[in-house]
Amino acid sequence: MAEVFEITHKDVLGRIGKLTTAHGVVETPTLMPVINPNMMILKPQEMRLLGAQMLITNSYILYRHPDLKELALSEGVHKLLGFDGPIMTDSGSYQLSVYGEIEFTSNEIVIFQRNIGSDIGTPIDIPTPPDGSYDRALKEMEVTLQRIKEAKDYSGDKMLLTGPLQGSTHLDLRERFARLISELDVDICPIGAVVPLMESYRFKKLAEVVLASKRGLRLDAPVHLFGAGHPMMFALAVALGCDLFDSAAYARYARDNRYLTSNGTYALSDLKYFPCSCPICSKGQLDLSERELAEHNLRVSFAEIQTIKQAIRDGTLWELVEKRCRHPTLLSALRAILNHSEYIEEYEPQKWTFLYTSEESAKRPAIIRHLKKLNNLNLNGRILITTNRKKTKHLEHEFNEILLMKAPFGPYLPELGETYPIGQSEVPAPDNASKKSALANLIELIKSKNFEATFAYDDNWEHEFLYQLCECCDLLPLSTFYEKTI
Ligand SMILES: [Zn+2]
Repeated sequence: MAEVFEITHKDVLGRIGKLTTAHGVVETPTLMPVINPNMMILKPQEMRLLGAQMLITNSYILYRHPDLKELALSEGVHKLLGFDGPIMTDSGSYQLSVYGEIEFTSNEIVIFQRNIGSDIGTPIDIPTPPDGSYDRALKEMEVTLQRIKEAKDYSGDKMLLTGPLQGSTHLDLRERFARLISELDVDICPIGAVVPLMESYRFKKLAEVVLASKRGLRLDAPVHLFGAGHPMMFALAVALGCDLFDSAAYARYARDNRYLTSNGTYALSDLKYFPCSCPICSKGQLDLSERELAEHNLRVSFAEIQTIKQAIRDGTLWELVEKRCRHPTLLSALRAILNHSEYIEEYEPQKWTFLYTSEESAKRPAIIRHLKKLNNLNLNGRILITTNRKKTKHLEHEFNEILLMKAPFGPYLPELGETYPIGQSEVPAPDNASKKSALANLIELIKSKNFEATFAYDDNWEHEFLYQLCECCDLLPLSTFYEKTI
């Protein structure tokens, strides 16, 4: 996989990468508009002007339609669709999930994809739906794995091959499947059968499935979140390490008069003002045709991808994800991810900025990383940890070392006050969540070291965690102390 996918920038688990195909290099993360050859609301060439680098179409539809099949075989899929950039083909597993069976074998479809010149081909995997039984998920996973192995014999040397990951909502199966896929030499790993989770707004479960899959996958494997086309969840999915998206949503939502934004969906009839300045929305007419609405939906989706890429370069992907995850179902997903901060911290690159934008910021991996750095300090004797150095200045000579406090990170050496994360963080007055994180780090530090600690704190540091702190440390409430001493 390493030779077809090169990662150039990273943030959280997200990355900007270069995917090399027979029809050119694609910069990821990217969105592939889904083209139905029977029903093109926007022409592929128009999509390129809107920002599409790569398209996806369904080889199963081409294969079972005699005229299209003949045309695709004689002219190739690129000429058929009128697009000279990379084209990925899906296999019909969606139809399998809807109708229960299809009339062709996986190998037949893989050979067909190769023969029509697809850049990325897909075997027919078995999409076990969410909440399917464990036994069923396991059996279907084995069939899919076997089909991927066979597909390798038929995919040829030009077409990249995907190895779709299944396992339903059983996280251990997702991780196990991902490990097995990583051992096969496939080029792209789609995470499959997650559309029902997205359609029912089960983003928390979706995030857990993606994380479980990532734990099993090689880090350099490009990951495609199959069926994800709504811009409001791109930032979250990229932060979890997804690189490719496909969108039928732009057309499907347009058909139902639904207007996409990166913060959610509007009914077109409810909008009196468009929150967008694309050429369609700038015309000043509210009554958009289906075609115009599809174009806006695609434009706003590509704009979100650009926003995400810039955030990766700026090291502010967490901030963007927190901004996007304000709908309760997305917020649940964000909170679920933050329970995995320890895992993410291992892979997240060193950062240089930290903006505290919500209580969720207090659980970011940067807080764990700060504690790890603290644990490397050599601290002995009597240590004063103070939230207000002015008030404790005259006590300093009684202590071997002074540490300052900053929420949500916790204690730090004054001489490191200009370095990341302390110096490069913008944090409002401590709230409950940030004090909790800072005090938890302080407790961890005291418990892991052999020193005598005194915590001198201002009123605004009052927190229930102080009761836990007093078991291992002397507490010096500065309000009382200060009044007594002046
Ligand atoms: Zn617009």
